[in-house]
This record gives sequence, structure tokens and C-alpha cells, in this order.
Amino acid sequence: MKIVGVKVHVLMPQEFGEEATRINVPAALIRIQTDEGIEGITMLEEALYAEELVMKFKVLRKWLRSMEEFIPLIGADPFDRERIEKSFWDQYFFQRSAPTVLCALDECLWDIAGKVLNMPIYKLIGAYRERILAFASTQSYSSVEDYVRVAERCVEEGFKAIKIHPPRYWRRDIEVCRAVREAVGDDIVLMLDPFHAYSRYEALMVGREIEKLGFYWYEDPLPTTDIEGLAKLCSKLDIQVLTGEDIRDLYGYAELIVRRAADSLRCVDVNVGGITAMLKVAHLAEIFGMNCELHSWGHPWQQAAHLHVMLAIRNCSFFEMPFPVGIFDQGTRDVIRIDGDGYVHAPRKPGLGLDVDWDYVESRTIKTISWPS
Ligand SMILES: [Mg+2]
Repeated sequence: MKIVGVKVHVLMPQEFGEEATRINVPAALIRIQTDEGIEGITMLEEALYAEELVMKFKVLRKWLRSMEEFIPLIGADPFDRERIEKSFWDQYFFQRSAPTVLCALDECLWDIAGKVLNMPIYKLIGAYRERILAFASTQSYSSVEDYVRVAERCVEEGFKAIKIHPPRYWRRDIEVCRAVREAVGDDIVLMLDPFHAYSRYEALMVGREIEKLGFYWYEDPLPTTDIEGLAKLCSKLDIQVLTGEDIRDLYGYAELIVRRAADSLRCVDVNVGGITAMLKVAHLAEIFGMNCELHSWGHPWQQAAHLHVMLAIRNCSFFEMPFPVGIFDQGTRDVIRIDGDGYVHAPRKPGLGLDVDWDYVESRTIKTISWPS
């Protein structure tokens, strides 16, 4: 089996509802085509990289590495993932777009493998479970009342866990956390993600407060690069401190672990380079007795890619469901939803498990780029 081409559909920006804290940018559907007619398909969150993706894949000759080691994408066996990706990384690691483009490549290759073997990816990796509990990953709101209203809606919709993205002013954030805990009661799992907003002092004050409120995790209180601050915070708090979702180089995780700057890791496909890289991070964390809580806040392909990994590792406790549910859905009807107990279930179709809604994609396509054209 051989890869014969790559085709990209740049899509019109999605129109988000009022409650989506997200910048509207065009996404791109990526297709890696094989000589047997099977295609690996995924979506790039930012079409900005689409043109670059095709250009990067055009490389035909060696650069830096010896000819024996280098493998161009066109003509490669899609099952030679490590070899293809090492070639790619050696060429482009120093460019900011490299992890994102690598992620699209990697997820297409996994999708092809699953489709060839007629198996969902999580089974192909080695399934650990068939379902995982979801938390509602809520947006940022302007008032304490709005936080309470949204949290109550999450509970009504069947969520057993809720993550709060607070206003990011530490005193007000504490008020929000108290009000939400009081509104939903002690049986709902709560997490806080202030998205790097605090100083070291503020992070400690908020951490002590949410510990008392029985929160389950405290995500990104400080910048990920403030290793010293994170290490001090971890040593002072009992609640688990999570960080890492903006790390763009796998070696950054080693630093967090050895400096004891996180209790559990966070990881995102587009920042580390896809399913293969997330597995490396999750397995590394497992060996150090840590959880690797994967981010899955994004469009359906991104949600699915993370879900397959979550189902194939032991050390992840929750699926992150963007709330309101369905806000980022586009390009497919195979969307992930929670059941009555708050769980999401394994995709059943082969590969990533999503069929493209071609009518939708064609109606939203601004331009297509392909190679060889
Ligand atoms: Mg986060």
C-alpha cells in the first residue's frame, strides 16, 4: 500500500453561538490518499496551516539526514508511521507549524490503518476500556449568576463533572467556585482551569480555597514555563495541579516530571503531534505514577482522536466535552455525546470513526489544495 496524494479543503469559518469562547477561523479538512482508494481524513483547526501542510509534504529529497533514513510522504507505506514522522520532524521541528502539521499527518495515518484493518483506532492501539466519564468543559461568563446557571444546566443534561474557566481575577474566581459548589452539591466533580492567569501568590490562595471546596483538579494556574513556581505550588497543595497542554515538544514533559512541577499532565494532539505523540506522553506519565488528562476541546475529529487515546490508556480519568454540547460540530454527523450516566462511548466505525458529511464540506469549501494536483 502506498500514499499517492494529499488534498485539503479549506472551509469557511464556522459561526459560533454566543456562548462559544472561540475565534472564528477557517478550518481545513485533510485527506491523505492511497493507491487502494482508502483515505485518511482529519480536520485542522486552523486552515492557516493548510497551504504549508501541502508544501511540507512535497519534499522529495533528503535534507540533513541521510537518504537511507529519509522517506518522502508520497510513495511511503502509510503503516510506516514512526519512519515517516521522524523524517518529517527532522525536516521541520524548528518551525512553529510543525506539531500541528505532524498531528494532521499522524491522525490521517492512524485513520488509514484503522480503515485497512476495519478496526477503531483505540482497539488497534490496545483497548483498555469501552467508555469514559465526561466533564462539561464550560466557557467564561460575565457574572457569578451565569456560572451557576450554566453549572445547573450541565447537571440537568446529565454531566457528573464540570470544569470551570473562571473570569481570571483571583478573588472573583474564588466567589465563582464557592457559588458553583453550593449550587451543584458535593456529588458533582469540579475542576478549575484559570488558563495561566495567576501570579504565584494568587495561585496559592485560589488553590487553598478550592481544596476546601473539594475540587478534583487545578489546571494551569501558572504559565507552563514557570517550572519553579509550579514545583513550589505542587509541594504546598494537596489538590492535583495539572499542566502541559501548550507544550510543543515532548521533551518539555520530561522537565515537568523531573522538576516535580505537575501532579498530572495535560496534553493536546495539535501541540505534540497527534495520537502517536500523545501515547508517548501518556505512557511516560504512567511510568511516573501520574495521570495524563487529555484535552479534547475542539471539533469532532479532534474529540475523536483524543477519545481513542483515552480508551487505550489507563491513566486518564475524564473526556473533556465542550459545553454547550455540539458547539464545535462540523463536517460530520458522527458526533460524540454522553449517555444518561455521563459517559462517552467508544466509536464503532473503523479508523477515527467519522464519516464526512460531503454535502456540508462541499458547501463550505473556500478552496482546495492538492498534491500531486
Ligand atoms: Mg486548559
